[in-house]
Amino acid sequence: MQQQQPLPAHIASLTDQDAHALVNRLREQLGKDTIILGHHYQRDEVIQHADFTGDSLKLARIARDSKAKNIIFCGVHFMAETADILTGGERFVSLPDLGAGCDMADMAEVRDVADSWLEATKAGAKNIIPVTYINSSAALKAFVGKNGGIICTSSNAKAVITWALEKGNHVFFFPDQHLGRNIAKGLGFDPARDMLLWDPKKPLGGHSAETIASKKIWLWKGHCPVHALFTVHQVKKIRETSPETKILVHPECAMEIVDISDLSGSTDYIIKTVEASPAGSKWAIGTEKHLVERLAAQHPDKTITSLNPFTCLCGTMNRISLHNLAWVLDGLVNGEHYNQIKVLPDMANDSMAALNRMFELS
Ligand code: SF4
Repeated sequence: MQQQQPLPAHIASLTDQDAHALVNRLREQLGKDTIILGHHYQRDEVIQHADFTGDSLKLARIARDSKAKNIIFCGVHFMAETADILTGGERFVSLPDLGAGCDMADMAEVRDVADSWLEATKAGAKNIIPVTYINSSAALKAFVGKNGGIICTSSNAKAVITWALEKGNHVFFFPDQHLGRNIAKGLGFDPARDMLLWDPKKPLGGHSAETIASKKIWLWKGHCPVHALFTVHQVKKIRETSPETKILVHPECAMEIVDISDLSGSTDYIIKTVEASPAGSKWAIGTEKHLVERLAAQHPDKTITSLNPFTCLCGTMNRISLHNLAWVLDGLVNGEHYNQIKVLPDMANDSMAALNRMFELS
């Protein structure tokens, strides 16, 4: 993997004010050939320069449908990879800081997944349908595509898992155990009776061949470290101190939290729910801090706080800075293509098979 290089002095030494001015000037020079995409979890200093904001899938679709030659993806690595796949590898897709990965995606290395898959099939499991959350590497998406599987987002996970359950004897869900468990439970499956947690560090995920044969849903042992910062205690505290406050969480939170919250849904669902709520509503939200703070600023007539009163910041997403953005744009103006994210053609083709199955459902 490429390493992020230090920013050159003429960029690193800029004040924030000068960096904003430079970004604006470079944008004008580059015109419509360059678009900036900003994920909801980005810092304000970055997102204010985005042409489009959204969740990972919305941004990838915008990249696909745009005619821009250059796509600056202010998000994390797997999102830029997805944009490159969806644009057929024909545009320049850049991630302004190569250190902006996703800790959850890193919990499902494709080598470990392939080893687990082999073990399960050797143990006699048949007709396994792999499903990966879009928050995963292109290598894992390709593995899933090659093995008849499908990709999901938090918005369409219900439809995707339903499809996979109808198609196979078992659904192997990567990398977020919580999203898989919450959605499958919502579909009527019992976590104890119908699901198992697959620990890739243990033979057969830590189970016997009989156990894996008897469970319909296998959940890879991965999670989002940001959404792991929300606890049952925090929910109880809000219930005690502010019973009128509604608790709204992302399904990457643990099942115990989703179960006792008022509402749960994707980033898009969270935004729309808050937007549609009447003035005076009170919300405690369980998702990344930048999105919650932005919602609070956009809706001064409502009381919006984080469910976690301390920190719940995505540290990798937060690596994209105003200065990194200025550096990538400065490079483009000078004919340099910094931090290109490029997925190998075979990997992109296999990933596309899994993405297309998802698009057919949503
Ligand atoms: S919030 Fe969690 S899932 Fe999203 S990019 Fe950060 S680590 Fe990954």
